[in-house]
Amino acid sequence: MRVGVLGGSFDPVHVGHLRLAETAYEQAELERVIFVPAGHQWRKADQQMAAAGDRCEMVRLAIAGNPYFEISTLEVEREGPSYSDVTLEALQEESPGAELVFILGEDTLADLPNWHAPERVLELARLAVAGRAGGGGPAASEALPGGLRGRVIWLDMPPVDVSATDIRERVRAGRSIEGLVPEAVRDYIAAEGLYRD
Ligand code: ATP
Repeated sequence: MRVGVLGGSFDPVHVGHLRLAETAYEQAELERVIFVPAGHQWRKADQQMAAAGDRCEMVRLAIAGNPYFEISTLEVEREGPSYSDVTLEALQEESPGAELVFILGEDTLADLPNWHAPERVLELARLAVAGRAGGGGPAASEALPGGLRGRVIWLDMPPVDVSATDIRERVRAGRSIEGLVPEAVRDYIAAEGLYRD
């Protein structure tokens, strides 16, 4: 049994995340995909994030009705920084015997050598990676340390040029986010007045 793990700030969750999860589900032959909203994002410490409760609720709205997507709130419930190796260890304990596949975009992959215990992450999971608009794609993995390269599955996914940063800026500027997030997430952002400053 292979289980996908998609970590992120999800500030907010958007169609790029959903395409990424769906593509990994199909191409990495996953039984399910667990979305893991980050608690304290130590790699984005200078960035203000929406409250964990709002980010989790938007993920719940985005995945509702999809039987093989689920959410784990283990990182937001944990004190201190969100380290992926600690998260993967906890998820492995919850699903003994499962093979974990950590799903990420290539921008996050490029940052992996700077993570807490990157070797442990690679022991605990294979990586399923999607290109992002403007990224180098599989060619970029040439820059990765040798050991890492063998653990990476490149997903064949047309780039989805959407980022949470762009969505937050659009909301702040009063512009439309139609089509960039699921309708229920768009309505939630409007109802809660998120990202308006
Ligand atoms: P921000 O713009 O705030 O940095 P983001 O849009 O990159 O956010 P995150 O929640 O940080 O979203 O991303 C979680 C994971 O999803 C990361 O591994 C990231 O690379 C990946 N990801 C996000 N958007 C896309 C996308 N459009 N295509 C492929 N991967 C994506």
